[in-house]
Amino acid sequence: MRRSLVLLPIVASLSACGAIPEGRSPQKQTVSRSTQVFTPSPEAQQCYNGLGQSKASFTPLPDQYFGAGCSAVSAVRLSALASDDARLGVTNLGAVTCPLAQTFAGWARFGVDRAARQILGSPLVRIETMGSYACRTVAGRERLSAHASANAIDVSAFVLADGRRISVSGQWSAGSEAERRFLQTIHASACKRFGTVLGPAYNAAHADHFHVEVSASNFCR
Ligand SMILES: [Zn+2]
Repeated sequence: MRRSLVLLPIVASLSACGAIPEGRSPQKQTVSRSTQVFTPSPEAQQCYNGLGQSKASFTPLPDQYFGAGCSAVSAVRLSALASDDARLGVTNLGAVTCPLAQTFAGWARFGVDRAARQILGSPLVRIETMGSYACRTVAGRERLSAHASANAIDVSAFVLADGRRISVSGQWSAGSEAERRFLQTIHASACKRFGTVLGPAYNAAHADHFHVEVSASNFCR
């Protein structure tokens, strides 16, 4: 049941990007594709194991190619992360690559939760996001965004156990001294873990979120 639901969009996207070779039946491609899809590469499996050890709740997703260079490969759907002693919710995420999920899990636990306890006196219970996968270019440019390969997450707010909600749009500039210091601290800790981090100090397009991305670069604004 679930398999057929998952496979339909893959067949459609393969057709759309011309990946089905001439003269071969789409039906046969579907079958071989499904075998491939549900057998993760050794690298992906190793990443899934690491993500499992971080106590994240997730579902591995079949590799998907959407055309126009957009894809979600070795990706997962994250339903929850974990702090030292509790479950951390995460909202509004689509597909994320496993390496991104693993980095995000480490940041949530060791960066965000600990800073929330130390600076705001309450543990983290939930991270709210504005999404992850989106087949699009970088705003104003032609090159594909890291979102087009499920390699970036836009993080918008942090909810604490005492009920406080610290949002990038609300508290980055206008929050209390502690709230502003919390956001600056977790932005800085994100920069130590992710290759690219963009926030309100970068440009107006990032006034309401932190863009965190697994990349080979070292760009922190
Ligand atoms: Zn982004």
